Amino acid sequence: MNVKNTEADVAWVKHALQGAALRVTAARVAVLKSLAAAKKPMSHAELVEELSEYGFDQSTLFRFLHEAADAGLVSRLDLGGKARRFELRKTDEDVQPIHAHFICIDCGELTSLKDFSVEVSTSHGRSHDKLGTFTEIMMRGYCGVCKSG
Ligand SMILES: [Zn+2]
Ligand SMILES: [Zn+2]
Repeated sequence: MNVKNTEADVAWVKHALQGAALRVTAARVAVLKSLAAAKKPMSHAELVEELSEYGFDQSTLFRFLHEAADAGLVSRLDLGGKARRFELRKTDEDVQPIHAHFICIDCGELTSLKDFSVEVSTSHGRSHDKLGTFTEIMMRGYCGVCKSG
């Protein structure tokens, strides 16, 4: 496991949980620390595997991921037929702006486009109402590996 276990890391995770009115538990702290260290959005299965040494209940982790998403601590990325993926969105003082994601149609590789700027202008009136709250920008295409195939 590549998660640093410094006191500062644990402190901000606890603070973030308390800020979201979620009880601080060992499982929740571990999940948020894993997401903080992850280079890309993680699925529930990946988190279960990464945290397997602790023996947390899988459904506890599943429930918490959705609670954390509802509380705005993590982003929940819905990839259609594939499992949802989660990434950290909010620390105790810092809310990450929504960044776009790119998914490869061929291999399913998901990439966070944090260095890309994608501008979405808000519209008003009826089409704005249809949109509701938008939570992700998903782009599809072929990744660098698949494009030559
Ligand atoms: Zn690909
Ligand atoms: Zn991302």
